[in-house]
Amino acid sequence: MTKSLFILAFLTLELFPLNSNEVWTIRKDDLIGLNKPERELTFTRLKSPYTGREDSYLRKEVANAFMEMADAANKDGFRLSVLSATRNFKYQKGIWERKWKAAKGTDTEKALYILQYSSMPGTSRHHWGTDFDINSLEPSWWETAEGKKLYTWLKANAKRFGFFQPYDKENNERLSGYRDEKWHWSYFPLSNKMTLAYNFLVDYEDITGFEGSESATTVQIIEKYVNGIFPAQ
Ligand SMILES: [Zn+2]
Repeated sequence: MTKSLFILAFLTLELFPLNSNEVWTIRKDDLIGLNKPERELTFTRLKSPYTGREDSYLRKEVANAFMEMADAANKDGFRLSVLSATRNFKYQKGIWERKWKAAKGTDTEKALYILQYSSMPGTSRHHWGTDFDINSLEPSWWETAEGKKLYTWLKANAKRFGFFQPYDKENNERLSGYRDEKWHWSYFPLSNKMTLAYNFLVDYEDITGFEGSESATTVQIIEKYVNGIFPAQ
């Protein structure tokens, strides 16, 4: 995208209403996980029965849409439960560095191995408050009869509530990035703005402060992973 288009996109991002009395501007910290969901008015904490955790924070708009989708799923006999919602930089750094220590090979090989399913700190959509994981993080569960039925329901209905699956290997248009993650869903009306903002506000020099951060450029983390989603932005 050209710089002028980015500027235009950015101007439209500057102010957009969350509800009648709240206005929110996307900042770099919102994109790289340095914000504090538990203290910010634009976030809310999901509660039972929508999650089994005490720390499932999402943007209010996203939480409302998710609860509507979960209620609709319930009527059709499915239970949607959030396993992981917003994760900050520090949390993601913990996941990444644990995997980094266990991985083998050159730095690039280690990074590519971890990146099959886990993001580098500062590049995760889980930082944004728009994305979450539901029901099971095991690819094999989604191949069971129960998992397949739920996935079919999600593919048919999630869009109605604003959700899409950004890491979907079945779509040939997505040629790089993470493996197919049937559990990971994203609220398009906000996350597409976050993706645009990411490309405008975040640079490689911001992706730092963890073991193996030097490999961000060699694996082209922004081009292939942040932008390696379906549908293309
Ligand atoms: Zn996820």
